[in-house]
Amino acid sequence: MRYAERLRRLGELLEQRGSAAMLVSHPANIRYLTGFSGSNAMVIVRPSDAVLMTDFRYLGRVRPLREFIDVRQVNQEIMKPAAEQLREMIGDAGTAVFEAEDLAYARYAVLAQIAGSDRLSPAGGLVEQLRAVKDGDELAVVRRAARLLTPVYEALAAEGFAGRSERDVAWRIVELLHEAGADGPSFSSIVASGERGALPHAEPADVAIPAGTLVTVDLGALLDGYCSDCTRTFATGGLPAELAEAYALVKEAQQKGLEAVRAGVRGADVDAVVRGLIEEAGHGEHFQHGTGHGVGLEIHEAPRLARSSDATLQAGMVVTVEPGIYLPGTGGVRIEDLVVVTADGAERLTGYPKELITTG
Ligand code: ZN
Ligand code: ZN
Repeated sequence: MRYAERLRRLGELLEQRGSAAMLVSHPANIRYLTGFSGSNAMVIVRPSDAVLMTDFRYLGRVRPLREFIDVRQVNQEIMKPAAEQLREMIGDAGTAVFEAEDLAYARYAVLAQIAGSDRLSPAGGLVEQLRAVKDGDELAVVRRAARLLTPVYEALAAEGFAGRSERDVAWRIVELLHEAGADGPSFSSIVASGERGALPHAEPADVAIPAGTLVTVDLGALLDGYCSDCTRTFATGGLPAELAEAYALVKEAQQKGLEAVRAGVRGADVDAVVRGLIEEAGHGEHFQHGTGHGVGLEIHEAPRLARSSDATLQAGMVVTVEPGIYLPGTGGVRIEDLVVVTADGAERLTGYPKELITTG
């Protein structure tokens, strides 16, 4: 059972750092460790055992989990019973770690009062570390979530962009994802045209997409809890030379980035390859974000491919490679693929073409 195995591996990490237990509160981490995807739960993991707490609304759903985890029903105000359970499980002398990035201060205050703040410390991404390397089942889901983006882009290209509003296209993407078999979008799609394309994370606006410019379309599918992520940039007619050159440069840098991905390479090294090429062409200041990020149960997760990343890529990690060039007042381009890191390279999961496609 993969959940039992994940709990066991987390238990090993706790043992290595001398923690008696971990309080897991982050929903994606709870889902990873137990498969539970309800809204109100806490999991306490020890090297020897684990407990999941949730309220009466989810009792039916947690029944199958009893095979590998002890399930306790608590009231909807879950923090107090969870803190009491943790205190009991760490005994008189043990210490525990918790998810400082997730636990709201009000909840931490209850936890600290009951378990003792001197016996608590931040876990620092322990479950995230396990999640970064995907197993075969996870890879199969992410592959499917990525593959269903191809018909979405095909339909968008066929329908054209010029004259439609960015918001309409964004809404159409939700429909197309549904038609392709996704459970939904993995994040709010970005449709950024013309000058607005120079904003890497522009919100789709109620403005008509102009002809003769670039439109950046960043979208992803959610499938069985897992995310995919892809960006393509289309031309809505003949382009000014500046934008055509930017497209060619991003396409080349993105390809070089893909070629740099391999187990054993550092995230910072992939970023350096991509950034170096863009800087050499004089566009360093127009590429301010990182080169890529991990994708899985969450759209942004470990590892990061960025200057400041200390991650080393391992086989089974799923990452994006997504350089962009953003020219203020003119437009922007980003090209993003999702790949699985392998021993000797990368398996590309997002297969839609990257040649510049001119639509209406
Ligand atoms: Zn994206
Ligand atoms: Zn991305």
